[in-house]
Amino acid sequence: MNLPWLKSYTQNLKKDNLHHSLIISGREGLGKNYLAEGLIQGILCTNSKDLEPCGKCQSCKLYESDNHPDFHKIDLEDGRKSISINQIRAFYLEMFESPFLGGNKIFFIPRSNLLSRESYDALLKTLEEPPKNTFIILINSDSQNLPATILSRCHEINIKKPQDEELKSWLEKQEVNIDSLDQLIDLSKGKPLRALELEQTKSIELRSEFIADISSLIKQGNNISEITDKWIKNEESLLLQIEWMSDLLMDILRMRFYEDEKNIFSDTANISTYMEDKIEPIEVFKLLDKTINLWNKFYKNNNLRQDYHLQSLLVDWNSAIGLRS
Ligand SMILES: [Zn+2]
Repeated sequence: MNLPWLKSYTQNLKKDNLHHSLIISGREGLGKNYLAEGLIQGILCTNSKDLEPCGKCQSCKLYESDNHPDFHKIDLEDGRKSISINQIRAFYLEMFESPFLGGNKIFFIPRSNLLSRESYDALLKTLEEPPKNTFIILINSDSQNLPATILSRCHEINIKKPQDEELKSWLEKQEVNIDSLDQLIDLSKGKPLRALELEQTKSIELRSEFIADISSLIKQGNNISEITDKWIKNEESLLLQIEWMSDLLMDILRMRFYEDEKNIFSDTANISTYMEDKIEPIEVFKLLDKTINLWNKFYKNNNLRQDYHLQSLLVDWNSAIGLRS
């Protein structure tokens, strides 16, 4: 996939003086993994002097077929919750072996947020002085979470959202429905891959239904079991709709405390404005807490009584905001 907004991040990097430890950071949906893949292939490519891979040499072919002997990926092992110190030690040893193809070696940690505290400490040593021709590449979705000691030893490439115009013209080329373009940009909060995903999962239709459901929940409140039955039918859209519920509450807080009307979701502006007028901030915080908690519960555990938990959340919403006294 061609992601034009990523170009500016690598075009000034030179292969011969590239920092040996790189962190690619930025929010989800901006293309961190695509940038990493291009960069990795460029570093490994034995044909090109810059970071644009030739796509023809043995190294490029091996990388593209997922078989490059000098490319090492460190990710979560089955059944584990974090990347263990033993994995880091193992890769430390591998690091001092000669490269099979005689070129560069890469150690790639695509989910560095899953490193345990001890792994971070072990990693520090290698970031400081990796052997010659060795590159370490980390991806992090929130560089705030990375210890400063790690950040200070790496060159950080921080991907930002593209401008609306650039995003719009890219989305048009992906053949998304032109009528829903603005809504996609709004809903994805300007994150291109997220916008595309929303289009592909037909989330614009879901969004209209969501708005209708929430409006009637607030106005009448007699459709709670109906909404519950409908929402729990699909795991993914259930999570998305609960996320949208918390977005609505966040919008109320934005209006109340920051007078920030520009950054609220425009398609639910009627509802959030109505709610802002109707409900005390303390209640908004309480509802937000419950809503986010439920999202986390559903995200982590599929064995919950979803109908019971969702219904209870909707009842809380209705009694806090509903028109019925
Ligand atoms: Zn090549």
